[in-house]
Amino acid sequence: MPIRKALIIGGGIGGLCAAIALRQKGVETHLIEKQETPKGQGIGIIHQTNAVLAEAALGVADEVLRQGWGFAGGRVHNQAGQLLYEIPAPAGLPEGLPADMGITRSRLTAILLSRTKTLGTKITTGTTAQVIDNTSDSATVRFSNGDSDSYDLVVGADGIYSDLRQRLWGEQYRAIFSGQGGWRLNIPRPEELEHVWLYLRSDGPNCGLMPLANDLAYMWCTSNEQSAGWKDNADLPNEMNNLVKDVGGLYGELRERHLIGGADIIYRPFEYVDLPKPWHKGSVVLIGDAAHASTAHLAQGAAMAMEDAVVLGEEVAAGGAAPDVLQRWENRRYKKCVWVAETSLKLCLNEQGRLNEPGFDALTQMIEGRKRAMAPT
Ligand SMILES: Cc1cc2nc3c(=O)[nH]c(=O)nc-3n(C[C@H](O)[C@H](O)[C@H](O)COP(=O)(O)OP(=O)(O)OC[C@H]3O[C@@H](n4cnc5c(N)ncnc54)[C@H](O)[C@@H]3O)c2cc1C
Repeated sequence: MPIRKALIIGGGIGGLCAAIALRQKGVETHLIEKQETPKGQGIGIIHQTNAVLAEAALGVADEVLRQGWGFAGGRVHNQAGQLLYEIPAPAGLPEGLPADMGITRSRLTAILLSRTKTLGTKITTGTTAQVIDNTSDSATVRFSNGDSDSYDLVVGADGIYSDLRQRLWGEQYRAIFSGQGGWRLNIPRPEELEHVWLYLRSDGPNCGLMPLANDLAYMWCTSNEQSAGWKDNADLPNEMNNLVKDVGGLYGELRERHLIGGADIIYRPFEYVDLPKPWHKGSVVLIGDAAHASTAHLAQGAAMAMEDAVVLGEEVAAGGAAPDVLQRWENRRYKKCVWVAETSLKLCLNEQGRLNEPGFDALTQMIEGRKRAMAPT
């Protein structure tokens, strides 16, 4: 039976994009989100060209550009702040779109949510799926609010700690701690910061700067950590300052200005998901972080979730029942997503001195990563 009606579980970037992509192909869509209001945290997100192209396909690229910051390529510096390399922009982009964009997560979520509503997806918040009777013909779902319904397709976009993955694939597929965490802070955009600026440090963890809007940017760094706990305490500015105290150039200036008491820093551990294929069972498919969460080292996690959604829309439109559609979807997505996740993890382990791969060069891998992520899927 062709797919006419779909449930999307999770209203993050992947789930909202899936609702848009399926609705654009005429599928009746219902999205559930466990939070009362879908919202992204205020820190920003980098969109490289493949994310920009996915947003164009979803009809939101112009609005993301209007509310965010468009640019092309970036700069790589050494720890002292000297320029090592200029990252080029890929050629052949659609007219009027930049190669790269930055935007805050809250603005991106609001844009995706608005498009989802405009296209007519039914949205139920504060709700989870409690029981799923999943067959290759359909899935019948009972919700935490007492309702139930049947769907031709269920899209699991419930993120790195996916409840659906653990229930249908098994408890063993939990998020795995990588040995690192990420520190992020919103700051006013310095005038000269027009691209992503990366600082490669001789002693391991990296850091950088990213424009998010005309008046906004963010600074980040990674750190090697003993455990997977989240940090949230008054000492975070001091801790982050210590981690990057030897970084020079513009980053050093901004550190002195902004990494001071009261700075609103968000820290989270880097985790990943290693789920073997198939990423679909019966009428259920996992997309985004639920299927293939990666550490943030290639800045590709959200881009992969967006591409998952666009390709799912295309394969549903190409016709067939869920098992065939989902197999074709996986054939197009698996290799690329796994490559992104594996390469991100190598970069992460390399920063920790734990990668046993002689000749591995982080800069070469990042440039290669950017090229391969741009390849059609
Ligand atoms: C520090 C850091 C920096 C990053 N930077 C970038 C970047 O610059 N560029 C990039 O492309 N990627 C980046 N990423 C990766 C990116 O954030 C993720 O890959 C992306 O958010 C995944 O989207 P998702 O929709 O799959 O999951 P999520 O965004 O986690 O969304 C999952 C949604 O499901 C909801 N949910 C959870 N459980 C349930 C349930 N049982 N029922 C209903 N709803 C549920 C959640 O509330 C949430 O709204 C970064 C990640 C980190 C950690």
